[in-house]
Amino acid sequence: MRPARALIDLNALRHNYQLARQTAGARALAVIKADAYGHGAVRCAEALQEQADGFAVACIEEALQLRAAGIRGPILLLEGFFEADELELIVQHQLWCVVHAQWQIEAIINSAVSGLNLWLKLDSGMHRVGLHPAEYQAAYQRLQASGKVDKIVLMSHFSRADELDCSRSAEQLSTFNQARAALNAEVSLRNSPGIMGWPQLFPEQSANDWVRPGIMLYGATPFEVEQPLAAQLKPVMTLQSKIISVRELPAGEPVGYGAKFVCARPTRVGVVAMGYADGYPRHAPTGTPVVVDGVRTQLIGRVSMDMLTVDLTDLPHAGLGSSVELWGQQVLASDVAQAAQTIPYQLFCNLRRVPLSYSGE
Ligand SMILES: *Cc1c(COP(=O)(O)O)cnc(C)c1O
Repeated sequence: MRPARALIDLNALRHNYQLARQTAGARALAVIKADAYGHGAVRCAEALQEQADGFAVACIEEALQLRAAGIRGPILLLEGFFEADELELIVQHQLWCVVHAQWQIEAIINSAVSGLNLWLKLDSGMHRVGLHPAEYQAAYQRLQASGKVDKIVLMSHFSRADELDCSRSAEQLSTFNQARAALNAEVSLRNSPGIMGWPQLFPEQSANDWVRPGIMLYGATPFEVEQPLAAQLKPVMTLQSKIISVRELPAGEPVGYGAKFVCARPTRVGVVAMGYADGYPRHAPTGTPVVVDGVRTQLIGRVSMDMLTVDLTDLPHAGLGSSVELWGQQVLASDVAQAAQTIPYQLFCNLRRVPLSYSGE
């Protein structure tokens, strides 16, 4: 069988979840939207079920998949409902629901449901979704008085928490604090970079608050620079494959489509069973780090659909059948992402065709 695999270490996932909760000093919803960023939502939820305060997904389709697999406990819909008729299912399956727009508030008030757990989202500066600060209090009061609602959590989302020298997070927090004014309720603001990078904005850790860690659960840093907590994360996914062919080429010979790489010296080229159809980024350039038999080397030439090529010239012991780590503990996904001018989020979410196998149940 083709040797491309993604190994998922569930112990590392649990370690990272614990780190998120400890660092935040708050309850944490494990964000497992988009199939747990490619790691398999059901298996990740099962692994975290004992420990996690709850889960967060993008939409009801993702939540129902978890419920069907027997996942109990809170699941928050991060974009709420897209159509009003989802409300009945939301109540039936005891899902928690973000409310980010006036039309959703009208739909709730006009519905026949009750007992909703709502997360009222403020647009504190991301300017994507969320209520305007001027309409926030009134929206809260209307929902509170509607008879449909059991509980409302106050929520917003940071747009630039991954930029550690940027003042935007502090501004957003101040906008949020003004908009909520005297509202006495639980709060949820922080994603991974908010948890890891901005302890100074949250000096009094409130055990009543909720954080929403995503990328850090999977052991990848949201930052482009080194950061102390990032070093404590454990990579959950190891994307690996094997060398399936070796070529010895003289200087001057090209490798792969478009002759994007031309050997500058006599070169031993290893061909790896991994390509962009597996989710490895096609735009990863020559020089992108890769590990062969535990030794770091580099990608050369263009990534093709099912194969990519690496430089084995300085790895005389590597050859046919050698193991290759595309990302994992030896090459961080964030390093590959940076080389390919993307983010680890996208690398994980793009994973396809590669079988996932789990350890640490
Ligand atoms: C995806 C998402 C998160 C998780 O973000 P990370 O940067 O992966 O930690 C948190 N909150 C909301 C609203 C999200 O959509």
